[in-house]
Amino acid sequence: MIPVNSVLQVGYFPDLMQAEINRRFSPTCLLDPNAPAPVGNFQAILVRSNTKLPEALVKQIPSMRLVTTCGVGYDNLPLGYLKEAGIKATNTPGVLNDAVCELAIGMMFSLIRRLPQSQEFLKSGEWSKGLFPLTTTLAGKKVGILGMGRIGQDLAKRLEPFKVEIIYSGPSKKPVPYRFIANVKDLAKESDILFLACPASSATDKIMNTEILEALGPSSFLINIARGSVVDEQALLYALQHKRIAGAALDVFDNEPNPNPAFLSLDNVLLTPHIGSATSETRIAMTNLAVDNLEAFFNQQPLLTEVPN
Ligand code: NAP
Repeated sequence: MIPVNSVLQVGYFPDLMQAEINRRFSPTCLLDPNAPAPVGNFQAILVRSNTKLPEALVKQIPSMRLVTTCGVGYDNLPLGYLKEAGIKATNTPGVLNDAVCELAIGMMFSLIRRLPQSQEFLKSGEWSKGLFPLTTTLAGKKVGILGMGRIGQDLAKRLEPFKVEIIYSGPSKKPVPYRFIANVKDLAKESDILFLACPASSATDKIMNTEILEALGPSSFLINIARGSVVDEQALLYALQHKRIAGAALDVFDNEPNPNPAFLSLDNVLLTPHIGSATSETRIAMTNLAVDNLEAFFNQQPLLTEVPN
């Protein structure tokens, strides 16, 4: 049971998610995260992971005890201040793995088989004038995963039937049947396709830089389903424009929802508007897990999915 006037919803939620929230309880809404906090004795904030939660807003509410973000990534939370103020945070891991991995696999095939370009080739009548250029087979290739966490492991399981060798890197070796490569540059050098599935953090900021993209090389593809900050976008643009890598599929960008327009004119990219978890089923599951965390908090039960801080 969530008491009335106890939760402040910060930012907009898509209709389906808002309807699910409203079905479970009635938050006070602050649509503009940069507006002053409404007066009230709020103990929890509900926010989406793509909304930047300003530290200044949380500071205005001394009664605040919990921030619940709807999404896995918590890079938009003021974690330093939350820790200092003893405010806990929760996220919604796991329930979006299927949707994110399905998108990642779809992006991979669209990218290496050039599905959007081949459809355009047919629609524009080019087929009657000649054949579509040959593309790339997945079978027999080495697929790298940077970040063998929940999504990385689910992705690897989905890749196994495609007759590929799976290799991975990250801070620690995991109990998985794939080859661990400690160094990111070595991972890139060996990968024909490299998926990014790590969190945004100071350690991963622009980890895909010129040196690593050069190591990936002209016949290899990059797929980013993590966060825009993990890639040095200027370095990636150069690599794509000068064919230093074969291509990139990007679901996430630095400046969402207005990505660098230089990406739009490239032929060796597949671009999606941060839709990893954007299915109806997944968004309902995420909303419910977020609200379950709020209920657990107000019922003085252990939080279900607390963010480590
Ligand atoms: P997770 O279970 O926490 O997995 C993250 C993995 O990344 C962990 O294995 C972690 O290793 C590894 N990692 C941490 N620091 C690293 C580094 N410096 N270099 C390489 N690997 C590193 O998280 P998840 O649920 O799989 O989600 C991963 C990320 O996907 C999220 O943080 C989010 O940003 C992104 N995401 C995107 C979408 C989308 O719509 N595109 C949707 C959902 C999630 P350790 O375990 O050793 O720390």
